[in-house]
Amino acid sequence: MASHLSRRSLLAAAALLPLGLHRPGAAATGAAPYRVGAFTVTPLRDGLFPLEPRMMPAAESPAGRALLTGAGLSGDGPSPEPVNAFLIRRGARHWLLDAGCGTVFGPDFNRVTAALAAEGVRPDQVETIWLSHLHADHVGGLLTPGRLARFANAELVVQEREVAYWSDAGARATAPDALRPMFETAQAVLAAYPDRIRRLSGEAELAPGIRAMPLPGHTPGHMGVLIADGADRLLIWGDVIHSRLLQMPHPDWTVIWDTDPGEAIATRRRILDRAAAEGLSVTGMHLAARGRIERDGAGYALI
Ligand SMILES: [Zn+2]
Repeated sequence: MASHLSRRSLLAAAALLPLGLHRPGAAATGAAPYRVGAFTVTPLRDGLFPLEPRMMPAAESPAGRALLTGAGLSGDGPSPEPVNAFLIRRGARHWLLDAGCGTVFGPDFNRVTAALAAEGVRPDQVETIWLSHLHADHVGGLLTPGRLARFANAELVVQEREVAYWSDAGARATAPDALRPMFETAQAVLAAYPDRIRRLSGEAELAPGIRAMPLPGHTPGHMGVLIADGADRLLIWGDVIHSRLLQMPHPDWTVIWDTDPGEAIATRRRILDRAAAEGLSVTGMHLAARGRIERDGAGYALI
């Protein structure tokens, strides 16, 4: 009887959990879906990236150490940051935004396919994949370990400037060392989907209620996706923030993968200001939550 009762109270407790925590595969997705009007936006957690201060050189400082130790981390880092893709659904339609790392960064990642399966979606059922940019932690998951197309029927949608940059032999030859492996993966993706790439030039409607918003700087064709239904809005801002802990208070701190750090800072400040002014709900590929932005001293906070 005692075990029967405890099982019943466990079930009652489970019923109180947010949807998603007691489904198979929930450990892979790690997050409950967000509702945006009639849209459902499900973060697909690919893994956790150990961001080291050397990857954000301004964080190798007393201010960086203070933030890390204040969060219970070593002052030398790393700061574990999520890597997300997103499944966006409305009625019978669905779209994928980014695809995670795949096998590019080893066995700690590559969970997007399992997270999709937990949502009842097979790779061959995905028709459209929007790409925030062509960095390996966003497009590595488009490839099988043998570097073939993992999504047999999908069209990729990406900014023309992004395709041009990663296809440019001159850019590859003069890129800093940190960006060389990124060229390799981006070019493998472009080669694996040769006739299935739709190029955008700037702002564009991706689907009714969903717009591409250019956010250049991190990469030339980096973009966010703004989802709106009535008064409900959510901006999925790609890599505007790589570390909530370090960059919300210090929006001028850049990562070594920014192709144009000055433009990345300007874009980050512009979009944080806009989100704060409009009460816009935001999330991103390296955020574990969605929230609104508030000004906080010289920086910002995600509420
Ligand atoms: Zn990224």
